[in-house]
Amino acid sequence: MITVAQIAETLSSVADSQVYYINPTLTQTKVASFEYLSSNDAFAFIESSFPTILNINSHDLLTSLPSLSTGVSKDKKFIINVAVSNRDYSIVTAFKDLGFNLLISSNAKESYDFSIVSYLLAKVSNQSVIHFYTPSKESVTPYAQKSIAELYQSFDLKANADELESAFAHLKPLSGKLYSEFELLNPSGWLTSQSSFEQVFVLLGVNSAFTEALQKQSHGIISIKVYRPFKVSKLQTLLSGLKFSILQLVEQSSINLQFQPLFLDLIDVLPTLVGAGKKIITSQLLSVDSSNAAHIVNTLVSNGKIEKPIQNLALGQPFGTSSSASTAAAAEPKVDECYLKILQQIEPNLNILNYLSSNPSPEYSYGKFLYDESQRSELIKLVEARLSSYSGKLNDLLTQWLIKAKESKETFDATELIDQLEKISSGNASPILSLKEYFHLKSTWIVGSDNWAFDTGLTAFHELLKSGNKRLKLLIIDSDASVNRKQGKKNLGLYAMNYGNSYVSSVAIYSSYTQSLTSILEANSFHDGPAIVLAYLPKSENHLDMLKETKIAVDTGYWPLYRYNPTLTNQDDVFKLDSSFIKRELQSFLDRENKLTLLASRSAKLEYNLQSYNKKVERKIHQQSKDAFHALLDNLGGEPLTILYASDGGNATALAKKLGNRATSKGLKAKVLAMDEMSLDDFQLETNVVFITSTSGQGEIPGNGKQFWDGIKSSTLDLATLKISVFGLGDSKYWPRKQDAHYYNKPSKDLFNKLKNLGAGILCDLGLGDDQDADGFNTGYNAWEPKLWESLGVSAENADEPPPITNEDMKLNSNFLRGTIVEGLADKTTGAISASDQQLTKFHGIYMQDDRDIREERKKQGLEPAYSFMVRVRLPGGLSTAAQWLKIDELADSRGNHTFKITTRATFQLHGIVKSDLKETIKGINSAVMDTVAACGDVCRNVMCSAIPQNQHLHNQLVHSSKVISEHLLPSTTAYHEIWLNDLEEVKREGGPKKIKIGGDALVDAEPLYGPTYLPRKYKVVIALPPYNDVDVWAHDVGLIAIVENNEIVGYNVLVGGGMGTTHNNTKTYPRTGSMFGYVAYDKVHLVCEKIMLVQRDFGDRKNRKHARLKYTIDDMGVDVYKGKVEELLGWKFEEARPFRIDSNIDYFGWTKDENGNNHYTCFIENGRIEDTQEKPHKLGLKKIAQYMVKENVGEFRLTGNQHILISKIPDEHLSTIKSMLAEFKLDNLNYSQLRLSSSSCVAFPTCGLAMAEAERYLPVLVSKLEEELEKLGLRNDSVVMRMTGCPNGCARPWLAEVALVGKSYGFYNLMLGGSYIGDRVNKCFKTNVNEEEVLKILVPMFAKWATDRLDGEHFGDFVIRAGYIKPTLEGKYFWDDLPEDI
Ligand code: SF4
Repeated sequence: MITVAQIAETLSSVADSQVYYINPTLTQTKVASFEYLSSNDAFAFIESSFPTILNINSHDLLTSLPSLSTGVSKDKKFIINVAVSNRDYSIVTAFKDLGFNLLISSNAKESYDFSIVSYLLAKVSNQSVIHFYTPSKESVTPYAQKSIAELYQSFDLKANADELESAFAHLKPLSGKLYSEFELLNPSGWLTSQSSFEQVFVLLGVNSAFTEALQKQSHGIISIKVYRPFKVSKLQTLLSGLKFSILQLVEQSSINLQFQPLFLDLIDVLPTLVGAGKKIITSQLLSVDSSNAAHIVNTLVSNGKIEKPIQNLALGQPFGTSSSASTAAAAEPKVDECYLKILQQIEPNLNILNYLSSNPSPEYSYGKFLYDESQRSELIKLVEARLSSYSGKLNDLLTQWLIKAKESKETFDATELIDQLEKISSGNASPILSLKEYFHLKSTWIVGSDNWAFDTGLTAFHELLKSGNKRLKLLIIDSDASVNRKQGKKNLGLYAMNYGNSYVSSVAIYSSYTQSLTSILEANSFHDGPAIVLAYLPKSENHLDMLKETKIAVDTGYWPLYRYNPTLTNQDDVFKLDSSFIKRELQSFLDRENKLTLLASRSAKLEYNLQSYNKKVERKIHQQSKDAFHALLDNLGGEPLTILYASDGGNATALAKKLGNRATSKGLKAKVLAMDEMSLDDFQLETNVVFITSTSGQGEIPGNGKQFWDGIKSSTLDLATLKISVFGLGDSKYWPRKQDAHYYNKPSKDLFNKLKNLGAGILCDLGLGDDQDADGFNTGYNAWEPKLWESLGVSAENADEPPPITNEDMKLNSNFLRGTIVEGLADKTTGAISASDQQLTKFHGIYMQDDRDIREERKKQGLEPAYSFMVRVRLPGGLSTAAQWLKIDELADSRGNHTFKITTRATFQLHGIVKSDLKETIKGINSAVMDTVAACGDVCRNVMCSAIPQNQHLHNQLVHSSKVISEHLLPSTTAYHEIWLNDLEEVKREGGPKKIKIGGDALVDAEPLYGPTYLPRKYKVVIALPPYNDVDVWAHDVGLIAIVENNEIVGYNVLVGGGMGTTHNNTKTYPRTGSMFGYVAYDKVHLVCEKIMLVQRDFGDRKNRKHARLKYTIDDMGVDVYKGKVEELLGWKFEEARPFRIDSNIDYFGWTKDENGNNHYTCFIENGRIEDTQEKPHKLGLKKIAQYMVKENVGEFRLTGNQHILISKIPDEHLSTIKSMLAEFKLDNLNYSQLRLSSSSCVAFPTCGLAMAEAERYLPVLVSKLEEELEKLGLRNDSVVMRMTGCPNGCARPWLAEVALVGKSYGFYNLMLGGSYIGDRVNKCFKTNVNEEEVLKILVPMFAKWATDRLDGEHFGDFVIRAGYIKPTLEGKYFWDDLPEDI
């Protein structure tokens, strides 16, 4: 114990840390520079910003958890030394989710050393350190003070070095011992070499009696020294070096959970161990000493040996009791037990009114509480009346009690008071003594189930809130997550927050243990009204399902984690969201519930006694609520019209809204909803309903109408009082095969017929819109709408309507890309930003998306989609330093979805970033000298170039040109800097976003190149170096082909007008390859790119975004006219294009040496996804390689347009290390078929909002199936460029592939054939709507034919044309011509 203080005394002045000694004892020797605090709310008194806390005990630390989790810890970095009480290490896991470093020392020497390590860590880390130690009387030889001080001063962290490992290594010369996060103990002491054990125990906690008993039986023990950061991979490595068959996870803890925190920490790696035949057992250790250790070890070991071991054995004596014999209990914790244990641990004056298992009835529980309260009121009256008759100590005690009892705030232990009363036991004391049990003022908890969230329970809940009782705490455990149970359940959290007088929190112990503890502590100490803790603990027969259900509930926002304390003065602290997503407060819910609350609070008629619970009252509340609603409706006047839509592309939604506006302008009471927002119950009460639905997939109703349709199609409702009409949107040519023709507008037809069959009256006949009509679906709509008005008896004339807001309007009115982005980021009620800001943030490199995998599930639960953002980096030339790689890797983990993507434009893309993390993400990227400006949007996008590993000089030139073009065409607006970087410390860099310029109060912004409306659409520039075309130089607005003379790029041939995006079946859209303009000198190329862009800026189509790309401008204008305008702006003419030869558009994998002797490795990354999987820990491996590069100051990364990476510029002396790292992390595997190596896909599901079918997740599966066939045909080593996208926008450039699959609907694709191997010819549709089976059926025979009939060196794309399978597309505009007949 004293050793920890010694270190603090030595280091506090060197480290500039004020030392606070908590709970001083009378006997201790005081240190002058320490501050001594006796308060157990120590953190309220601490002002220093770098405090060291000494001698705080577990209990005091635990009660400080709320302060440490927010408030006081915000701006401070603590070093906290905790003397663990009773060897109960539940205190360690209590802090697991707080982001602190958590160290556990197990003896005096370690405590001494870890105290120093705490200072070292605090010096270099942004996080606080908690050091848990067991007070010991062992003596330790102290180090010289000077040595300790020097050690601290000389400690620094090398870039990207591991903080902990560095601190341990730095301490070693002084300590003589190299500590580690995990230590393997065996009878001979510290051991790290390979050993063999029958059983291995991973122990969280310190208990020498227990470890000695285990060692005697020669079992392996891994002691956890560092619990946070918890390095699972390190533990895995340690375990993989041991031979054992049984792994026991043992926590020395008083909290008994079904899933101990340690088990949850390891949950990702346990399946691997189980798969390798290991048995995993978790147990809990209570108080164990030398008298019971051997018995407990025997029990554990025997349990390990039986076939089905008992999980969660709790062994030992309860903490705080002396041990004479051990107890062993197979304890399956009861549902409420884990929460109650926490309560018991923190609150000595606890009164639990009922248990979930014994009586979960809300009426009973609250009734019991009311009864107790009435008895206490009686007692208060008695004491007040007789107080003057008591004197001395008893009078004092009664007065104290009276104050506390009337305040209802504090607890009071009345043992002494009752003793005194009983001693005098006079006649007038007896009525008081008959109520003596009510003298005890306790923290009173009702434990309830989700019954409280249904009608009857809700009434009790309402009464409880209304009472405002300050002593009452309610723990509601929601353990029934079944779908039926979810429906109709009221949101108690929202309901309680509406009242504004209660503490409310929502917790899930198996999602965040720390947050659950913090909430319970906060609730227990809340004294300004009732405190309500809503706890999620889904019951399931399969225990792992419980964890899965918890994870889904929290991740989808069904069960958000939050804490609400209306009494906090700082408004920002009142509501704290502890999980990423929160349920959107459905307006209808709030309207109804608010009304109920207000009515009840106001109306004396609604007062009632719960003990005589009366159904009539409930009905009355509903009636009043309903009446108020109808009164509201009556005031609106006019014929009601409800418009329900189902839409996935947005057309049906827009049409429904337009119809709604027109209805309102005609005096109708119109409301517009997605179909799924209407319940069948409410539907029956409607008068006039119009449906507008588009057609999805294989003739299905879009997602936001599915639930409604599923309900209605199987229903037998009587709709005789309802009048309806339906308008459908479809495409009669979408399914070219005759047998599929019935899919056309199927949802609208089905819906119309079903409603008619249910007896609904018809307002007007079914209307059908066809994309193939002259005016698209509007042709049909314009004929249908007047009939609707006629049937409703209103004029068919539509008043002048404002034109719809276009992208051009948004840009123009955005004040140079500002819009309301700042306000949108600050809006915490939604994870989304406004539609207009969604367009503007694209210019900042940000796309809003939602997780489409869980979209339907969230909708069912009444939640908004799980919005998150994709962030794309601008990385000219695709060149990344190792430090930049590490930053992206870190952001993917800390802010994103733990993966990132190498895009088809050779840059980084992060996914899954929630709104509240956006700014920090953008700042993080900029701090590493990258940015995201213009990575998306109607501007010049990231400029990419060939990766060309074999020639460093030429690559330097390519990157130089890429940067010059990118920076020359960068938007000038200062909005990016203003929104994202206003509080970022300046980073030295050339180029990049412009900084804030302020002239007086006015922002001085201008866009000399772009003007306020920027470009009509995106503008893409790439550079290829023949014979490589790894950038697909024909596919972009501008493709530059480098011309080399004497190993020097002297200039570029310029291709103009390439572009990929199309719309299915819209023959006005097509992919196009660039047209040759001629040659320009190297140093003029940026000017050429600028002038080409300016012509597009001025002549591009700004009315129709589907026709706005440069490829259409150039075809509309004619290539020569366009070129002439560019030359006019340049003031000179293009030279004749110079000869060049392109061989392929693929990447070449493996090692290459450049002219300087440096080595480059092109690494295969399937579809550009950097992630860790069981088989391929690529992300971790690349991180390790990047760390090595930083440490050794060598190398760089190059990203390719085919979504692969190069580990570049590796000198010979580092080659073997890099090679061994590549091997270790399975990055050196190039043993794939050429088909796989030449394939690529876009992202598509789950994040891309435009995806119609899978791509990135499915292409590898399909390739595996094709590979088998190619292997048989002897084609494994023949390259075929194959690409897949989820929609026709063409992000992975499918239109240039030899074989491509373009998503049509889920599981169905258009099969394209005939692109060229070098990427200069657009392919053509061979067959529409094919599924996997058909793809294999078509392609395999073609490959077989190619294997036997091909000419020498003939590629597949050329062969299918020569063999007559498909006609060539000679120019983009002929893409739709010459299609096969049986398409
Ligand atoms: S091609 Fe379509 S589905 Fe794929 S990423 Fe691009 S927009 Fe999304």
